Amino acid sequence: MLRRNRVSRGRKRFLPQRQPALLKPISCVPKSSPSAESSGSAATSTATVATLACASGRTRCLLCTPTLISKRDIQPADICLCDLDGNMLAGNGPRTSELLLHLEIYKANPRARAVVHCHPPHATAFAITGTAPPIGLIPEYEIFIGPAAVARYETPGTQAFAETVLPFIQDHNTILLSNHGIVCWADTVTHAEWLVEILENYCKTYLIAQQIGKPLAFLPDEKIQEILALKRRMGLPDARIAQLEPHE
Ligand SMILES: [Zn+2]
Repeated sequence: MLRRNRVSRGRKRFLPQRQPALLKPISCVPKSSPSAESSGSAATSTATVATLACASGRTRCLLCTPTLISKRDIQPADICLCDLDGNMLAGNGPRTSELLLHLEIYKANPRARAVVHCHPPHATAFAITGTAPPIGLIPEYEIFIGPAAVARYETPGTQAFAETVLPFIQDHNTILLSNHGIVCWADTVTHAEWLVEILENYCKTYLIAQQIGKPLAFLPDEKIQEILALKRRMGLPDARIAQLEPHE
């Protein structure tokens, strides 16, 4: 079925000539920030990225990265257009084998408009211990992520794996995938990729700080409460807010 839906590399672009109302040609592969590039971060070089692309009448589809190609080598024509059942509509494909994970997040949380899944080394180091990094140390991490969830291990690429994140999608925008990697969702691809960078840098900083041999200085609780109030105003998910306001 995938082979039948493919288009040749020589074809102009997969975007239809008459674009649906909300379909915009966008970059599906986020550009890392200069700091990430200079620090040698490979957080997204092996990532799978997908973003909702159009919603016109009964047509709902998404753009995602193909499999078996380095994200650094991807050209715009390599991006795959799929429906929300994971079927290829256009592109050189085959699409990422992890699309099921992305689809479960979109189906469960309409606020998720873009998803990035990858295996950054410092965050994945936590994932193979089955524990999330501690909270209360750096305001940036508290504001944009906060408590990360840890999903149980399942074989990558399977529906069972995709469903491991379901208990956490409403109150966490960042989930560690046990013995595998991480997945982040946001309103745009760029913002989802920012979460990847923030998590990876935070995990790296925490591991370095532990080697200094001095006690870690945690933020006072009243300062955490100020951050949570800010997150409420910004509409950012946080399990701590959900515990205080379960019906909001
Ligand atoms: Zn993976």
